[in-house]
Amino acid sequence: MTQENSAAALPVVRKAAALRAQIAAWRASGERIGLIPTMGSLHRGHLALVQRALDAGERAVVSIFVNPTQFGPNEDFASYPRNEAEDVETLRAVGADLVWAPDLEEMYPPRFSTYVRVEGLTDHLDGPHRPGHFQGVATVVTKLLRQVAPDRAYFGEKDYQQLLVVTRLARDLELGVEIVGVPTVRDPDGLALSSRNFYLSPEERQRAALLPRVLAETADAAAAGIASFAELLRAARAALSEAGFGPIDYIQICDAETLVPVSSLERPARIFVAARLGRTRLIDNMSVGPTAG
Ligand code: AMP
Repeated sequence: MTQENSAAALPVVRKAAALRAQIAAWRASGERIGLIPTMGSLHRGHLALVQRALDAGERAVVSIFVNPTQFGPNEDFASYPRNEAEDVETLRAVGADLVWAPDLEEMYPPRFSTYVRVEGLTDHLDGPHRPGHFQGVATVVTKLLRQVAPDRAYFGEKDYQQLLVVTRLARDLELGVEIVGVPTVRDPDGLALSSRNFYLSPEERQRAALLPRVLAETADAAAAGIASFAELLRAARAALSEAGFGPIDYIQICDAETLVPVSSLERPARIFVAARLGRTRLIDNMSVGPTAG
């Protein structure tokens, strides 16, 4: 972070017309644009994405929008943590260039009725467990990519299925943007950073570290061929249940490109988990095999 960055004002833009004017000005002076879509409550995971754009010499545009269409009726849209003032201060300190924070009506004006649906990838993992979620994600990300028209957009591997869905839609709809995946940032005990970790009680937060541990151990055992994937996943599920996780929506090893469940390692694969701990739904994933991590 340079002195200049830390002292600079960080514009928070709420109207698409003002956003387009700023983007056009940057374009006119030949600058490249990186977009980092977020729902706010920023942590070091989000900041790793911002840093990637800055390191690439791009103007880092960070969107903050808690997108209602990606939450189910019984999910946490109302209670999702919102800390805009703090987020803006954090982004200013790291040297981001613009915060795009549209209100609900700017994003979804009256009579909004067009949605983007990505097939195939969404048949697996979170797709069946969160009906409508990926349609909401795909729709809002398509809008963000159209509004900002960045050269590159950055997404975390923490939400690996989302990364694949967004990569697919950007290609299929020829949005002319490169989608960049960024490795998951973890706390020292291994827990992947997430805005939803704020929901965990101190006791749950301690127990939550078991999730990445079980995932890593199962990935290693699967890569070493210690037992069948089915047996290893059964044992992993039992270990998590015993530690008080539940319901466990899934723990699966899937093809890293198609997300189809696999029972052997012929192509790159990942292990995925979604499990509740108290009222918090945690998700995580890691690669299986030589590049495990
Ligand atoms: P969210 O605000 O949860 O919608 O996340 C915004 C972006 O940050 C998404 O691309 C996430 O995958 C990414 N992200 C969230 N947590 C992490 C993490 N621990 N490490 C890396 N990226 C993350």
